[in-house]
Amino acid sequence: MLKLTNSLTDRKEVFTPINDGEVKMYSCGPTVYSYQHIGNMRAYVFVDSLRRILKYNGYSIKGVMNVTDVGHLTSDEDDGEDKMELAAQKEKKSPLEIASFYGGLFFDDLRSMNVDLPENITYATEFIPQMIEFIQGLERGGYTYIIDDGVYFDVQKFAAYGQLSEKDLSKTYSARIEENIKKHHPFDFALWKFVEDNHIMKWPSPWGVGCPGWHIECSAMSHSILGDRFDIHTGGIDHRTVHHEDEIAQNDAFCGHQVVNYWLHNNFLLVDNGKMSKSLGNCYTLKDLQEKGFSPLDFKYFCLNTHYGKSINFTFDAIKSSALGFNSLKKLILEHYNGQGKVEEDKLKSYEDKFLNAINDDLNTPLAIGEMFTMLRGENRSRAVYDLVQKFDRALGLRLDIDSIMPQREESVPEEIMALIEQRNEARVQKNWALSDELRDRILSLGYSVKDSKEGTKVEKI
Ligand SMILES: [Zn+2]
Repeated sequence: MLKLTNSLTDRKEVFTPINDGEVKMYSCGPTVYSYQHIGNMRAYVFVDSLRRILKYNGYSIKGVMNVTDVGHLTSDEDDGEDKMELAAQKEKKSPLEIASFYGGLFFDDLRSMNVDLPENITYATEFIPQMIEFIQGLERGGYTYIIDDGVYFDVQKFAAYGQLSEKDLSKTYSARIEENIKKHHPFDFALWKFVEDNHIMKWPSPWGVGCPGWHIECSAMSHSILGDRFDIHTGGIDHRTVHHEDEIAQNDAFCGHQVVNYWLHNNFLLVDNGKMSKSLGNCYTLKDLQEKGFSPLDFKYFCLNTHYGKSINFTFDAIKSSALGFNSLKKLILEHYNGQGKVEEDKLKSYEDKFLNAINDDLNTPLAIGEMFTMLRGENRSRAVYDLVQKFDRALGLRLDIDSIMPQREESVPEEIMALIEQRNEARVQKNWALSDELRDRILSLGYSVKDSKEGTKVEKI
């Protein structure tokens, strides 16, 4: 029984999908105007764990992740400039070039962390007609109004506003509002922004030339692919109070009922106990980590050792000790791969149950990794344990198989062994089987196995 913490109730709930055996889920993806830092990456490690654990439980997934390539303003409060447009100006490239460059790097990063990619990747600029239709639907429902700079959602028309953020519309807020914008309420948000002629990304609409607001993108894309009701929506906790609150308002106003059953949020990744910032120079990317000797999987392992709902403090000392732990895990797995011992069936079953209980308890990956360590340390070195780790790795995605742990095992055969292999090959050519066997035993006693096949002689460290 899988339990997940639903942000709508802030409680762990038993997960029950709308359709038996199938999960429909949407994950807020990146705005591809710059390099994604490791704080962004934590959200995708979380999505990966969720997807893998759902699959481990036998569910099939229809997943969507968006790529925002227009409409995300520098402030979530509907002011500032479009991040994509701004990056294009700075780098003297077109917004499309910016999106394809940083989008490409983003997916390279995900693949390097062995992230299980969603079935559907949607680009905002490919869904403009659906966004316009969505806004028209809201307009028909009486949820919108038009002012100088765009079409806005009227939060006071949506009685359930504030489910995620616990914002109370009746209270007065000292929100910063541009003087020339006459919003009816500080929480009202743009659905469609009118733009100046020199704006590169703009589309015609029933209200005038402009571009979509950021929140409407996610609603239109999730609705287009997943329909009127879907199971899970994920995102970073920084999206909870504005972006997701506004998505709920749009979705539920448009459809006339609750659209998403479970909202899941991963917590922040802090650096040196603070927020990452460009001015502090600590917006690290996976590439920065690699330059200091930590692989993308070292970073993933570091993330998995903290529950997704808790904040993580990243320091280079912390990832260093985590990477040492990851290495000792891999060393133990190798010992079991080469082990000749036996482990009782019911003991294996009990480890499997403990692992499953951990991941199904709101994706408790730190506990699951702990259970795996206990098994690896405590049991006779045995291939059966190695095989069970391979099963566990379907939920973790840490590439714990022998070929990933020892990618260079064939190349790293010492010269002394290679010389013996050559002698043995020579003996085989001369059909001196006795000598060939004797040499094979010597090689074996030095810790290497020799296998002959059509492709040639294969040497492996035992
Ligand atoms: Zn979103």
